[in-house]
Amino acid sequence: MLLQIHEPGQTPDPHEQDRGIAVGIDLGTTNSVVALAREGKPEVLRDARGEAIVPSLAAYLPGEEDPIVGVMARRVFLDEPEAVVSSVKRLMGRGVEDLKALGGALPYTLAADQPGGMVRLAVGGRVLTPVEVSADILRAMKARAEIATGRRVDRAVITVPAYFDDAARTATRDAARLAGLEVLRLVNEPTAAALAYGLDQGAEGLYAVYDLGGGTFDVSILRLQKGVFQVLATGGDAALGGDDFDHAIADHFLAGRSDIGSAAAQQALATARLAKECLTTQDAGSWWIDVGAERIACALDRPTLEQLIRPLVQRTLEIAQSVIADARLELDEIKGVVLVGGSTRVPLVRRSVEALFGRPPLSDIDPDLVVAMGAALQAEALTVGSDTLLLDVLPLSLGIETMGGLVEKVVERNTPIPVARAQEFTTFQDGQTAMAIHVVQGERETVDGNRSLARFVLSGIPPMVAGAARIAVTFAVDADGLLTVSAREATTGVAAETVVKPSYGLDPDQMAAMLRDSLEHAREDMQRRLLIESRVEAQRVLNALMAALAADRALLSAAEAAVLEAAAAQVTVALGGSDRDRITLAVEDLERASATFAQRRMDAAFNAALSGRRLDAVAETLGAAAPSGIRDPAASPAAPA
Ligand code: ADP
Ligand code: MG
Repeated sequence: MLLQIHEPGQTPDPHEQDRGIAVGIDLGTTNSVVALAREGKPEVLRDARGEAIVPSLAAYLPGEEDPIVGVMARRVFLDEPEAVVSSVKRLMGRGVEDLKALGGALPYTLAADQPGGMVRLAVGGRVLTPVEVSADILRAMKARAEIATGRRVDRAVITVPAYFDDAARTATRDAARLAGLEVLRLVNEPTAAALAYGLDQGAEGLYAVYDLGGGTFDVSILRLQKGVFQVLATGGDAALGGDDFDHAIADHFLAGRSDIGSAAAQQALATARLAKECLTTQDAGSWWIDVGAERIACALDRPTLEQLIRPLVQRTLEIAQSVIADARLELDEIKGVVLVGGSTRVPLVRRSVEALFGRPPLSDIDPDLVVAMGAALQAEALTVGSDTLLLDVLPLSLGIETMGGLVEKVVERNTPIPVARAQEFTTFQDGQTAMAIHVVQGERETVDGNRSLARFVLSGIPPMVAGAARIAVTFAVDADGLLTVSAREATTGVAAETVVKPSYGLDPDQMAAMLRDSLEHAREDMQRRLLIESRVEAQRVLNALMAALAADRALLSAAEAAVLEAAAAQVTVALGGSDRDRITLAVEDLERASATFAQRRMDAAFNAALSGRRLDAVAETLGAAAPSGIRDPAASPAAPA
């Protein structure tokens, strides 16, 4: 999402002239583009041949020091595919485990040793991380910008998919740093596209950004109100794009043949891509593919192409509809649609988007250049000064684990960032001096349905009765979407903090699946949450009673104590089952049965207070519903049941 805000203190740097210039870079999975804005007018930076698009490919030839990036790397690929890295953006912030989870054949050879779980690629006789490969691509973009402008380029706004998580954003920043670029800001791709169209200058209302690139699909819904944009929802599919069109066409070309080697398969894909791009403006054409000594003729016309790719286009429309539903909106509320990504040039895609939204989409700006142009505008705004700055939204909710494996959301998804939110938590056991803080991301009510981001321990809490400690847990998400979580105990000021460090990435598919799951399981989750909550509450009441009996049994007759113990036993029995009403009733009975005991303890405490004893311990034991409890890290993590 983007918000327009005025950021005080963002005045132009008086030494601006001494410094290099700031550009906008669309670091794409398939293609990358660099642009520069001057006085609010963005312009893409081209090479000597007038080409703006740089294929995101890096070739590492054995014995050559410098990699070959871009269109020349595509040539290398035909002869030496194993020396070329493609689609490295998919690996940003990913661990080895993530790759294994993707399964199937990867277009990469992983280096044998994988210390720290970070992916490393064996290519052209060296071992490289995705960050290093991205840095090589960024270095090429920087060099192109320096040649085109004749100025030093040292800062950039770089765009990332709205779905990029902390790990992937950090990896992108690291790559830029390696390439000698200071990152002014990471901006979400749809946000940049909206800015390039100057939608902020246009009519108020809702806009959709439909981005179909080489390997990914993203859709975002933005709201423009009083000159301010807000992203209401984002969604997409990380494995759906123009490459899938190419595969469908290549399969069609090679239909019924099982004698295809990998070189021929590569050639078929390249031919399919060529055919697809030709048929954007032509009605029909013919090409050929060499299989060994044989030459296969391939003819394709537009109706056949459309038949081949229709299911894929249909899927993007379904995703777009579900994102709109997710934002609780109706299609006819959308005022305008922005097309982004090279694959939106395909006529069937345009027609389908137009039919879905019932209006022609905005497509005046080249769909593969629009993101870089928006990034360039943002770079200018951040350096030369402007009243408008962009903010983004959190793609998934952030929260922490509480007793019983429940999740307490601290920052809801789609909250504009940067944001800081604090919430109070408390201890679950008497005398608990440490608290295990488990930070999770996702929409489900229980921890197992969410993604674990980080764990840390707050220790040094002074011993108090359960529920008495007040621990403020603060979540701060910066403008790049990086999260810092801190916990602070109120009376002593003891504090602990963690920055969520990338150890593994979240696949956008997984993210979409998590959102879908949370909708599908909402009812069932709520039932489960209520059951767990009643169990946690029952356990708390039992613990408090046991502590009270241990301290003040003398205030009860033997018969009274027996009644209380029987009521407590009923609660224990109810806890053995999963009937929430039964648990609640047993707890109510127990509380009724212990009312007299509580009153006597109160009276005794008053008397003691008169003789100098403190009251608060007793008052706390009797206190009303406390903030959610968090377990002691030393205690067993099992739910009380
Ligand atoms: P990404 O954002 O994924 O890096 P792009 O937005 O540049 O990539 O989109 C690349 C995709 O666009 C490729 O699949 C390419 O084949 C497709 N594409 C580019 N030009 C055309 C065209 N004229 N007709 C059809 N598809 C095109
Ligand atoms: Mg793109």
